[in-house]
Amino acid sequence: MKILIIYPYPLFDRSQEEDISVAPMGVYYVAAVLKKEGYDVEILNWFNIHKSPHRIVETFRAKKPDIIGFSILNANRWGGIEIAQIAKEVAPEVKVVFGGVAATFLWRHFLTHFSVIDFVVIGEGEYAFLNLVQVIEQGHDKQLQNISGIAFRRGNRIVRTEAAKPINQLDELPIPATYFQYQHVASSRGCPGKCTFCGSPKFWGHKIRLRSPENFVEELELLYHKGIRFFYFSDDTFTINKERVVEICKAILKKGLKILWVAISRADYVNETILHWMRKAGCIQISYGVESGSERIRGLLNKRLKTEDIKRAFYLTHRYGILARAYFIYGSPEETDETIQATIDMISQIKPFICVFYILEIYPGTKLYSDYQKKFHVTDDIWLKKMEGICYFESDPHLSQELILDFGKRLRTAFYTSLSTFAEALDLTDEEEFYEMHADFCSRLAMTFSQGDYANNEAIKEREKAAERLFNKALGYAPDHRAYLGLGVLKQNEKKYQRAVQVLSEGVEHFPGSEQLNLCLGINYMNVGEYEKALGCLLKFQNSKEAINYIAICYRALGDLGKEKEFLKKARGRQRGRRNR
Ligand code: SF4
Repeated sequence: MKILIIYPYPLFDRSQEEDISVAPMGVYYVAAVLKKEGYDVEILNWFNIHKSPHRIVETFRAKKPDIIGFSILNANRWGGIEIAQIAKEVAPEVKVVFGGVAATFLWRHFLTHFSVIDFVVIGEGEYAFLNLVQVIEQGHDKQLQNISGIAFRRGNRIVRTEAAKPINQLDELPIPATYFQYQHVASSRGCPGKCTFCGSPKFWGHKIRLRSPENFVEELELLYHKGIRFFYFSDDTFTINKERVVEICKAILKKGLKILWVAISRADYVNETILHWMRKAGCIQISYGVESGSERIRGLLNKRLKTEDIKRAFYLTHRYGILARAYFIYGSPEETDETIQATIDMISQIKPFICVFYILEIYPGTKLYSDYQKKFHVTDDIWLKKMEGICYFESDPHLSQELILDFGKRLRTAFYTSLSTFAEALDLTDEEEFYEMHADFCSRLAMTFSQGDYANNEAIKEREKAAERLFNKALGYAPDHRAYLGLGVLKQNEKKYQRAVQVLSEGVEHFPGSEQLNLCLGINYMNVGEYEKALGCLLKFQNSKEAINYIAICYRALGDLGKEKEFLKKARGRQRGRRNR
């Protein structure tokens, strides 16, 4: 029995694909459970297959699946339907199963309107899908109603079986890393929050289920040995149980896993102790849902967070050299100029280095959606429209598109115009064991201003100055390769070549084997006319493609045309040799 699990493409393309390019972790769990039972299962991340649609038919013809499971979110449900239609055209007998968040909340809608969908898995899908596969394999259709957590069509009726029980012992699930390679991991399921815009609690439940630290770190270790060094901890609130977080961090350190990771938390669920351990174990960023600077709006969204807790969390997170990322929602009920100003004020107080601003949208499975349905007598048929979500403001007479656009512009402008000053305010903990990590944090941040995401953003004032301050701050803590190089390049771009030479020489002293530092230093020696010294740096890496031309220029500048000719002959010979290999 051949099973494919497909993560389809979204309705609308994104300018940045990061948000949609990663298949939800659920697909790995579902596939791992099937693998453990000996099934032939493959995961296809088809988030962009619509850009080469011929591959869809080719794949189905080649792989001949018996069952195709689709991981359905609101955004990719039409992609799932389109791919399912193609699958049925290629092989009408193939069984199509929809699962995932949108399938869970819109199961009746899917089965009512789309005959290509044979089954829907509702909620946590691992065992429901396995049981379904087994029943399909055995051809025992009558057994379908005994499988918990599914819905299907029987004649003209749609049947939904009893809800599947939550998997309480998450450690009992096979660790997907045994079979697959990925970067998104979660140590828990569920969230105690009840935010009106979020479907997570209804999907996973309010009761938090935790994997043991050993089980979670075993997964990290398996992935580490497959070469993964960067992880996204995707728990809704990673820090829900503080002792456990410390245990996880200590286990990461004890196993010597040299990893970096980012996590999601709530501002009222962090303290100094866990931040201390998280940083030591490789955490470099925590995302917090702040939603609004107005306590009243947060209350309306049922985000029960105190302003003081938010301020404290951001201060402490930065203090330990962890980048605090703030999520804000705008266009909420009762949003006004004043509440937007409150958010702007909040930003200037908490000084985040990354802000993500979202317009409030309504999705199935949320309180906002059920209120919306009641208020406007709307059924799930609304999802027959080709849209990914419902903008809340469209249902609120006090808000308009023009106003929302203006709110968004004000928020972004306020954030970007203040961003450079946030760098100055960084107040890192003065504990020696963190100095190297602080250097790494400051130089990483500096790079975003000088060469990364913020480098070309004209709205950010004094980007180079912010970068320079951060590079210097980094070097004040410890010799840091990224800081030497970044500062050297910055000075070179400013044509301050002597200063570049000084910084890069210091860098080479600390990192003599660094090709980047040596080449950059060599170029800057050339800029100040010191060709002998430049050759000293460049010749260390004479096989480097970048170095060849510079070395030739140096020989020429020194009037040694014979050496230039000889060097170029040898270098070209080496290059030819490499090409022929
Ligand atoms: S937004 Fe975050 S805190 Fe609120 S319910 Fe969703 S996962 Fe929980």
